[in-house]
Amino acid sequence: MASKSEDDILQNSMAEDDQNGNESVNATAQIPRWGPQHAGAKELASQYTRGKRIQETVGLSLSFFLFAFNFCQLIYHFQPENWYIILACALGGILTADFFSGLVHWGADTWGSVDLPVLGKGFIRPFREHHIDPTSITRHDFIETNGDNFTVTVPFLAYMAYKFVTFSPEQIYQAYYWECFVFLLAIFVSLTNQFHKWSHTYFGLPRWITLLQDLHIVLPRKHHRIHHVAPHETYFCITTGWLNYPLEKIKFWTTLEAMIESATGYKPRSDDLKWAQKTK
Ligand SMILES: [Zn+2]
Ligand SMILES: [Zn+2]
Repeated sequence: MASKSEDDILQNSMAEDDQNGNESVNATAQIPRWGPQHAGAKELASQYTRGKRIQETVGLSLSFFLFAFNFCQLIYHFQPENWYIILACALGGILTADFFSGLVHWGADTWGSVDLPVLGKGFIRPFREHHIDPTSITRHDFIETNGDNFTVTVPFLAYMAYKFVTFSPEQIYQAYYWECFVFLLAIFVSLTNQFHKWSHTYFGLPRWITLLQDLHIVLPRKHHRIHHVAPHETYFCITTGWLNYPLEKIKFWTTLEAMIESATGYKPRSDDLKWAQKTK
């Protein structure tokens, strides 16, 4: 279910099947509206630093190791007779990941600015770049795409590993469902931007991925396109997208924005709009 018409989507978002060209230009100013030639997109892309790359690589490596260790522990302590509770916990983890993806994406899209110390360049910058050059994500490698999300899971996975090492079998048995919930949550949080990247990839995706998208197990392309209609004010969930329609129905994001604006006076998306209008 979409909240915008087919026409709205086509006219107000970038034609992503031309990922390096993007010749759509603003008729009055004769400058690119989107894509890698957009002045704002060029400036934002140039701000990806070596330090950031190191943080992403270290985060990814630690996370991989912890995922492997915890996975072995979960298999070792598996309780086959309680498979349906485990399944419910796993589904809860996936839904929670989708919700967090929406919350974090909404927060970064709507508030703050690239000029903020540390957070601006390290965290908000990619969100701004993504709106004016949505296909840049398809040119990012595995580390740039997934480094941040994997890094976020490290403290949680480390705490889980610590419990597996120090807890008695009885304590592990009692905590088992919770750990299943956290493990699936962590998996889907880590892979969120990979699913997001696939939702922008119009060429060369293997059949099993497009099948996952068609079955709506991961974020489908058409579904995510709704977010990419300026001014990017809805459909923020990018893991599976399952929560986008219900959250839109209850006006979750608009209500939250109205509350924050009346409390602080800050206008939603003012920094995002500034970057979109950049001409040099
Ligand atoms: Zn966005
Ligand atoms: Zn996107």
